[in-house]
Formats: sequence, C-alpha cells, structure tokens
Amino acid sequence: FNVPLPINEPVKGYAPDSPERIELLKTLKEFKQQERDIAMHIGGQEVRTGKLVRMSPPHDHKHTLGHFHRGDASHVQQAIDAALAARTEWAELPWEQRAAIFLKAADLLAGPYRARLNAATMLGQSKNAFQAEIDAACEFIDFLRFNVHYMSELYKQQPASMPGMWNRLEHRPLEGFIFALTPFNFTAIAGNLPTSAAMLGNVTVWKPADTQIYSAQVLMELFKEAGVPDGVINLVYVDGPTAGNVIFQHPDFAGIHFTGSTGVFQHIWKTIGENISKYKTYPRIVGETGGKDFIVAHKSAHAKAVAVGISRGAFEYQGQKCSAASRVYLPSNLADEILGYVKEDLATFKMGDVEDLSNFINAVIDEKSFDKLAKYLDAAKADSSVEIIAGGGYSKSKGYFIEPTVIVTKDPKYVTMCEELFGPVVTVYVYEADKFEETLEVVDQTSPYALTGAVFSQDRYAIDLATRKLVQAAGNFYINDKPTGAVVGQQPFGGARASGTNDKAGSILNLLRWVSPRTIKETF
Ligand code: NAD
Repeated sequence: FNVPLPINEPVKGYAPDSPERIELLKTLKEFKQQERDIAMHIGGQEVRTGKLVRMSPPHDHKHTLGHFHRGDASHVQQAIDAALAARTEWAELPWEQRAAIFLKAADLLAGPYRARLNAATMLGQSKNAFQAEIDAACEFIDFLRFNVHYMSELYKQQPASMPGMWNRLEHRPLEGFIFALTPFNFTAIAGNLPTSAAMLGNVTVWKPADTQIYSAQVLMELFKEAGVPDGVINLVYVDGPTAGNVIFQHPDFAGIHFTGSTGVFQHIWKTIGENISKYKTYPRIVGETGGKDFIVAHKSAHAKAVAVGISRGAFEYQGQKCSAASRVYLPSNLADEILGYVKEDLATFKMGDVEDLSNFINAVIDEKSFDKLAKYLDAAKADSSVEIIAGGGYSKSKGYFIEPTVIVTKDPKYVTMCEELFGPVVTVYVYEADKFEETLEVVDQTSPYALTGAVFSQDRYAIDLATRKLVQAAGNFYINDKPTGAVVGQQPFGGARASGTNDKAGSILNLLRWVSPRTIKETF
C-alpha cells in the first residue's frame, strides 16, 4: 500500500461570526468554568496520586484551570512496564492498521477536537487564537498525515534481489521503549514526539513540561478515541530529573525523542553515556534544542519586508518559538527606516489575555521565565551603552506580561545578542553598510546555536554570499522571509551545532531514527 502525499491542513481564519470562532469562544468559556482534575495515563488507566498541582493561565494566574496529579519514580516504572507489556502486539500489528489509527487522529483533530485542543493551548500556554490554530491544529494534523505518508515511503525502501534469491529489509521498531520528553511551547511538538515513534511500532513513555499538561490531557483523549491501544503511549507527570533517574537506568531504554533546552539535552546525553553498558541496544538520541536565531539585512534589502520579518519573526507567541528571531543585523543605510517601521508595527500590537481575540501579545509562560526576562530588561535599562527603542515594560500583577522590546546595541557581542532569552525581546546591531561580508562572519561566530536564520536582500550576489558564508549557521535558512513558521512537508525543521541533532521533524529522516532494520536473505 502507499499513502499519498497529503496536502497541508488549511488554516482557519476565525473571522467575526465565523462558525470556528463561535465554537472556539464557546469552548474557551466551558473550559474556564470547569476545574479539570487531570490524571496520568498509564497502560490505559487514569492514575491519580492526590498530590495535586494547580494549573492557571499564564495571562491570569489567579484563575484555576484545574489540578494535575504529580507522579513519582514508581509511576515512571509503571509506565515503562505498561509500554513493554504492549510492545509485542503493537509491533506485530500490520503497519496499515497503525497508519489508520493516526490518520483517524488527524481527522478527529481537524473536526471535533480542533476547538478543544486550540482552547486548551490558548488557556494553558497563553497562545492567541491564530498561534494556537497553526500549532495545535494545523501543524499537528500535518505531522500525523505527513508522517504516515513518509512511513509508507520508508517501508518501500528495499534492497536489490537476484534470480534465485529474495533480499528484503524488515523495518523493525527499536527493541525496548522510547522516552518522549517534550517542551511547553508547541502542542504539535508535544504530540509529535510520542506519535512519530509509536507510528513505526514503538512503545513510549511521554513526559510533557508541567506548563503543557493542560493541553497534553486533550491530546491523550484524542489518541484514545483514535484507537491507540493501551500502553502504547503512557503519559506521566513527574519532574524531569525523577523521570530521568528511572528511565536512563533501564536496560530496555531504546531511545529519547527530545525537544527542549540545550542544557537539559547535554545533561541527558552525558547520563546516557555514563549508563551505556546497561542497555540492551545503543539508544537513539534525537534532540531539538535551543536557538539564537538571526535576521541579517543587506544594504539592498526591502526595508518594509525586513521590518515585518522582525516584528512577526521576533514577537509572535511572545518570542517563545525556538525559531524566533532574537538578534538582528541592520545596514547603516537602512537601519533608521527599518526600525521606524518596526516601531509603527509594534504600536498596533495589543497585549492582553487570550479570550479577547484581538490581542496579538499574550503572557510569557510562567513566573520563572518572566523574572528571567525582567532581569535582562533591568540590566539593559541600567546600561548606557544600549538603547531600548520600544517596549521595556513588564508586569506580573495579573499575568506574566512583558512588552515587546527592541534593544539597540553598538556591541555585536552584547549579552542579549548571544544568550537565548526565550521571550519578546530582540536586539539590533547596526553595521556599516559596506561591511556585509565581515558582518556575516560575526553572525556565524556569535552564537553556539544553529537553528534558524534569515537574510534579506534584493541583490543576488549578496544572497549567494550569505547562503555560502552561513552554511553551518542555521538548519532552517530563509531568504527574504521571517525565520519562523516552518510548515510540515514544506520546510523540514531542525537545527545543528548546539541546536540539536537535526533529524528534521516531520520528515523521513526523523522516522528513520525509530526503526532498526533487519536484512533477510532467502534463497530458492
Ligand atoms: P526545558 O529544557 O526546560 O524542558 C524540556 C523538557 O525536559 C520538559 O518536559 C522538562 O520538564 C524536562 N526536563 C527539564 N529538566 C530535566 C532534567 N534534568 N532531566 C530530564 N528532563 C528534564 O525546555 P522548555 O522550557 O520546555 O522549552 C523551551 C526550550 O525548548 C528552548 O530552549 C527552545 O529553544 C527549545 N525548543 C527547541 C525546539 C527546536 O525544534 N529546536 C522546539 C521547541 C523548543
């Protein structure tokens, strides 16, 4: 069988009085009125510990959305046991049956689950309606459908045979269980990491970030309704180190599918290395990690296009996309014009809670992130060598709100040009317009990361120069476009250097990491 290449899920507009807007507003209201009791899911059972952790919207921290039940090491062990118990039957199920389950999940999400998952993402992670729609709905639907298609392509990969023999590759799942460790900032990533491994016949233990549990719960309901069997995806709410202590000691640990910060991934990699002799098989280590994503404009760039690239690329979802632009290099001939447009654009951005759909900027994820960002802003305000030309304000009285902020520095190595802040702050360095090539060198050498980056230019020579000089500086490189918004099936996503193992989520390259092929030769 072949599963044809799907088309990307169309993005809904949520125009006033549209059916999707009415449904979304109704669902938001319902969710806000009921405090949810959120259980773990292990081997198909809902597990409650009574150790309750309160959940609230980042934009309204006095409101209670519900409580989740905190698990401990024994629940991680139970999740591993449940996964291993489900493994043989799941691995032996014909792949078309597994494909059908995940295609059904995509259809359910395109239909009855869309408003629920979008509303949960909006309330739990403080995304506006459009940002939730392109993440929780469209991107995750695309991950499911495209991965099923790529799986069918992968299974077609077969070796040559000669008369008198038949050679074949059996694309077995890995021997053991996969650990899916997911971040707060994309519901689609949280859904994709366990499902892409499970699709290929693997069983998984999934630990989301605490701040994404509210939408993780809806994802789990979706998987159940689509027919994912008990034990194939086990969802636990434990803290990271507790999960790691059990998982990385286990002989059946066969791989980690991670997205999160660089520091955590490096710590995990070291732990796996220290325990390597304990495992039955070399674990697959797949991780998408931090970024310090750039925009560099050439003197020939279209000023307005650069400005839009900055204001959208840096501030959508409060700059909390791993791909968000956070350092910008502008040529001296265009800098004032570009920054003027950016300021005009920012003046139109409304900030507030997610229920008012006209708000573009919502809250940052939690108090820890808010405090960290406030510290950077205070330091910039106290530093006479930099200028804050927009924003700079913050307040956590109702929610964790940080104004979209533009810092201009004369030092290309200023701290906010180098460190990942993960918030609505962009730093701009103005270079002498004739020093484009030297500036590319600075762009390449300033940060250890290499996730996304963009060059803006109307000059073919400059585009070619930037493309060559920045060959290792970004896993996703954009020419005359903002560095965010990769679409599954169109711009396979992932970074290198300190940004990850670059296994390109939502592509056949990623799926290859979750199979361990057996070559079979039969003679006649
Ligand atoms: P994080 O690293 O804090 O958390 C990721 C996951 O790891 C969470 O589930 C967390 O609970 C867990 N964790 C934390 N410490 C742990 C430990 N010691 N042992 C085991 N698990 C542990 O990341 P986050 O704040 O949720 O997400 C933001 C980060 O993710 C940013 O750095 C961003 O750049 C990155 N990110 C990267 C991509 C990409 O594609 N490259 C995509 C999204 C997010």
